[in-house]
Amino acid sequence: MKSAKQIRSEFIDFFRSKDHEFVHSSPIVPIDDETLLFANAGMNQFKNVFLGLTPAQYPRVANSQKCLRVSGKHNDLEQVGKDTYHHTFFEMLGNWSFDDYFKAEAIEWAWELLTKVWGINPNLLYATVFAGDPIDGLPKDDEAARLWPRVTAIPAERVLAFGKKDNFWEMGETGPCGPCSEIHIDLGPDRCDMKNVQGHKCQVNAGCARYIELWNLVFIQFNRQPGSELVPLPARYVDTGAGLERIVAVMQNKSSNYDTDLFMPIIDRASDITGHKYTSQLGNKTDNAFRVIADHIRSLVFAITDGATPSNEGRGYVIRRILRRASRFGRELGMHEPFIYKLVPVLVDCLGDAFGEIAERSDYVSTVIESEEASFGRTLDRGIEIFNAAAKRARKSEDKIISGEDAFQLYDTYGFPLDLTELMAKERGLKVDTAKFSELMEEQRKRARAALVKDSLSITDKVSGQVLPETEDLHKYHTDQCDAAIVGFIDSDGFKDKGRIEASAQAGLVLDKTCFYAEAGGQVGDCGYIKSDKAQFIVENTTKIANCIVHQGKVAEGAFEIGENVQAVVSKDRNSIKKNHTATHVLQWALRQVLGESVAQQGSFVGPDYLRFDFTHPKAPTAEQLKQTENLVREKIAEDLPVAWTVMPIDQARKLGAMALFGEKYGDEVRVVAVGAGDQNHIGEAFSREFCGGTHVDRLGAIGGFKIIKEESISAGVRRITALTGLGLNAHLEKASDIVDELSVMLKVPSEALVDRVGQLLTDNKKLSKKLKSASRASGSDAMAEAKQLLEKAEKIGESSIIVGRLSTTSIEQAREAVDLLKKKAKSAAVVLGFDEDGKATLLAGVTNDLIEKGLKAGDVVKEIAPIVDGGGGGRPQMAQAGGKNPKKINDALARAAGIIKEKLGA
Ligand code: ATP
Ligand code: MG
Repeated sequence: MKSAKQIRSEFIDFFRSKDHEFVHSSPIVPIDDETLLFANAGMNQFKNVFLGLTPAQYPRVANSQKCLRVSGKHNDLEQVGKDTYHHTFFEMLGNWSFDDYFKAEAIEWAWELLTKVWGINPNLLYATVFAGDPIDGLPKDDEAARLWPRVTAIPAERVLAFGKKDNFWEMGETGPCGPCSEIHIDLGPDRCDMKNVQGHKCQVNAGCARYIELWNLVFIQFNRQPGSELVPLPARYVDTGAGLERIVAVMQNKSSNYDTDLFMPIIDRASDITGHKYTSQLGNKTDNAFRVIADHIRSLVFAITDGATPSNEGRGYVIRRILRRASRFGRELGMHEPFIYKLVPVLVDCLGDAFGEIAERSDYVSTVIESEEASFGRTLDRGIEIFNAAAKRARKSEDKIISGEDAFQLYDTYGFPLDLTELMAKERGLKVDTAKFSELMEEQRKRARAALVKDSLSITDKVSGQVLPETEDLHKYHTDQCDAAIVGFIDSDGFKDKGRIEASAQAGLVLDKTCFYAEAGGQVGDCGYIKSDKAQFIVENTTKIANCIVHQGKVAEGAFEIGENVQAVVSKDRNSIKKNHTATHVLQWALRQVLGESVAQQGSFVGPDYLRFDFTHPKAPTAEQLKQTENLVREKIAEDLPVAWTVMPIDQARKLGAMALFGEKYGDEVRVVAVGAGDQNHIGEAFSREFCGGTHVDRLGAIGGFKIIKEESISAGVRRITALTGLGLNAHLEKASDIVDELSVMLKVPSEALVDRVGQLLTDNKKLSKKLKSASRASGSDAMAEAKQLLEKAEKIGESSIIVGRLSTTSIEQAREAVDLLKKKAKSAAVVLGFDEDGKATLLAGVTNDLIEKGLKAGDVVKEIAPIVDGGGGGRPQMAQAGGKNPKKINDALARAAGIIKEKLGA
């Protein structure tokens, strides 16, 4: 039997033999495509080639693309577990022609591979072609219909025509598309899962599992425009997609994808962990849970590896939903603790060969999954109870609908994504009022937005909707000073390109060109000033709105005219910023040396005083590793290597291995900063290459020094390092040395002896504390003795003791202990104690449960007597406490307390 790995390679090798070039799958999180949350087909990475925007690198390509179908136009989430062949994550094997071969070869080769190389029985295979569409004005694909019987052995009666829904492939609402020809397989009458559906007849595209689609050959010829118009593309393309999991199931003679070597190792491991058995039956609750979990872990690992992180929005929320769904199904296998993360290593064993990236980042991915599981786990069980109550109410109602309020509470308080609530509702034959849910969501969003606007009313919010002039800002890379002209300003009424700007509240000055750096990529915006002969403007921050650079700050002196010539001068802080920025790059390099390639930047902050670098790493680096990192950075600084930068096409930069930030959008041309390269012609020689638009030192020596001052965790699997260079470091060292000097004066020892001296002091201190504790325990036992005396004197009502009295000075802890002790000793008691500590009155009450049932509550007693000592207080029925300013009245308060208790107990 062939393994999945073998089948994947045979696909690639077959197309290699037909002159195709193998290319690696693109990331599942699309890099430059805003229109798509996740890669959902092999063609995503070639979209721009189809659109004629970028030239194809090879005329023929073959690959195995990582696909995720959980959102948008292609969403198979609901199917997962219920059938045997739809997954959220799957591999799509594909061969591609970029204006090279067309339908005949695509059809011939697909058939050859399936029937000759893989030996699938040709009598079981069907082909489909596009039947045409009147609305789009498209004719039937006669070409394909004629080709099938001609270039393959398929008889014409097994070539069937279908409409747009099945045989016109589109990636999304817009984009490249075209008619397609699919290959389906007949798996035999036993596989039909719609036998109970009235009128069902097993046939291709009838929806049952007997005929399933293996391979789709798409002939890309059109571009769907916004508004739905189809425009022919300049060239013709072949784009095919075959689901690896389905082919493997056929080849391994399994009746379910889950029974193949792509899933069984995961299911077996889950079975080991949970102690439940998998029996491979559809419609069985336990089996279904196994399938869902085995499916979802694949999606999670691939998506998180490629840069998605669980969050409350967009991609991150899709990931969170998948994870929470999997967690919920874990409950069906009796799992109340995180366990899904334990499946990561098996998956790496299965697929790490073909996709090295999941092996590289597996520690990080496990950490993220475990922490998400843990945090959802805290509310899941309670959420399920709340859900059950809501479901009970819904079942009683006429329309069998779970209310929007319940769904929203489950979402907001218990972290249940709406689709999870819907899924659980569906399992019970109920629906959810999603309209009301959305309404409540919108209200919450509005509240959040309102809160946000209040906090960030800055000058840049004044110009929404206005088109601002472009500023030429390349000067920032070369100089700190430049001459420019004022083209406009922003004040509280928005952007103006006429008039004068005078001493004012916050304003934004816009120049025709500038050397100021606008906040971006973690680097802070520059400060400085802009001046004319008569006036001066202090720049407190620089930001960018579209391509307009806004110098934010205040007119300090005089007034500026629009059109006037000025000089822009960046503050000296710029030098410190440059040092910190270049050091951040060197730090990233050093961390990868010390901690490994799994270190990936998650964010950064580069300011004049310090730098901060956030990166993925599953656990805290050791002190030793941090030292090593620090030393590596220092060595590079000492070597005084040069720093160069250049702008190049993004593909070239990627090929050079330049590091980009996950999830960051870049244009076609990117700036690459190369540390260790002599000039822009030697970028390849650099030891660090990063996509970066920031400002940097020319040589590493300028950084001066480097020190890590803090390392911490900021979220699951993400660490943060704060470090200093240059002036910031000097200031830090200066301060540290002052502290040492001061201590040595204070402790009267030379600095070398400080550590010993402080050690000595700590030991002494420990000894003294111990002594103190035992002394106070002695006085505590006084309080206990007093309490016992009170018990002996206590008045009785039936079996219950009324213990009211005063303690000589004690602490609140001891008094509380005394109340507890008295309650325990007396079994049934109402206790009220008072004491005076440093001129303040404290009253404490305790009531045993049997008396609470009779309506006597400690909280009520305390509330009533507290005013007597000029104070207030309260607490639980079992125990309550009050403080007051008038200790002289403690006895009065106690007397009143005794009265209240007797009243309540009916004495
Ligand atoms: P189906 O009708 O079975 O859902 P599809 O028409 O959505 O398939 P395509 O978009 O044409 O499929 O994708 C190409 C191939 O990818 C399919 O022929 C199939 O082998 C595979 N495939 C599609 N969706 C999935 C999925 N959710 N899980 C596994 N394989 C899939
Ligand atoms: Mg589908």
